[in-house]
Amino acid sequence: MRIKEIYLQKSPVLSFEIFPPKPDYPLDTVFQTIEGLKDLHPDFISVTYGAGGSSRARTIEIAARVKRDCQIESQAHLTCVGHSPAELDAIISEIGAEGIENILALRGDPPRDQPNYNPEPGYYRDSIELVKHIRSKGGFCIGAAAYPEGHVGTTRWEQDWLRLRDKVEEGVDFLLTQMFFDNRVFFNFQENMLRLGVKIPISPGIMPVLNINQIKRMINLSAASIPAKLLMMFDKYGDNNKDFEKAGIEYAINQIDDLLANGVAGIHLCTMNKVEQTRMIVEDSQLGARYK
Ligand SMILES: Cc1cc2nc3c(=O)[nH]c(=O)nc-3n(C[C@H](O)[C@H](O)[C@H](O)COP(=O)(O)OP(=O)(O)OC[C@H]3O[C@@H](n4cnc5c(N)ncnc54)[C@H](O)[C@@H]3O)c2cc1C
Repeated sequence: MRIKEIYLQKSPVLSFEIFPPKPDYPLDTVFQTIEGLKDLHPDFISVTYGAGGSSRARTIEIAARVKRDCQIESQAHLTCVGHSPAELDAIISEIGAEGIENILALRGDPPRDQPNYNPEPGYYRDSIELVKHIRSKGGFCIGAAAYPEGHVGTTRWEQDWLRLRDKVEEGVDFLLTQMFFDNRVFFNFQENMLRLGVKIPISPGIMPVLNINQIKRMINLSAASIPAKLLMMFDKYGDNNKDFEKAGIEYAINQIDDLLANGVAGIHLCTMNKVEQTRMIVEDSQLGARYK
């Protein structure tokens, strides 16, 4: 089923993001994760694409099996950095041949050791070109990434939002956002998107803060701002992993409940492949009421 149909049929739509295990880990570990999350009734599961295509085969295989064997709708992420248009064409055909109908079209991050990265001639520069390519092949529902606080590489939010509008106009069906920790940031973004005429569903991305070092790394990469409440949590529980995780779960629950109370189209939960913590967040937030 195309994800845009799910958004038309229900609200809120719950999606989980999972990542493929590293190449030296058994693939089945991720299916144990999915098994543990299945009865939380996600409306779709989104499978990330390793930087530069490193997890390509696994992303497609997992997304195919989620749909076929687990009977849950799936989405394969796809990045265009480092792939020629011909390679992308082959990958998109493979995704279609596996029965996957939904693609999250992304640019991807330039290689870390190449700060002045320039795509090879003829390669795509941004996700807009990838969206156009997928759309030209037909048959896919296309999602894309959105940045409520602007992409880390941008200096002006408005510029970023205008680019996002251009991307949507090329045929994006729904948006999933990067993490943010202050819901006012999301509401402001949503209002600005409406002002610019973007009316497709936008699911806020929730990244539970479970480990102080991990979250510091992510914040550094994403440039998400830290509200005072979260900063105080860092100070209060930073030395105690267990208490920190507990407070992080509570923070995510409060964020979700406030978003739901304000009528968001969905919640996109980054599970980090963690069953127990994801279960607590879904069951103890208003998301739990969806299936009880
Ligand atoms: C929900 C979500 C899921 C993700 N999943 C993955 C994943 O699975 N694998 C992975 O490697 N990464 C993933 N990412 C990270 C993403 O690949 C990076 O953030 C990347 O740097 C940007 O990708 P994009 O598709 O948003 O890029 P784009 O839409 O191309 O935009 C990137 C930035 O460039 C600007 N821009 C775009 N076009 C132009 C232009 N023509 N001229 C000037 N500026 C321009 C935009 O305004 C924006 O600031 C994900 C991000 C999100 C939010």
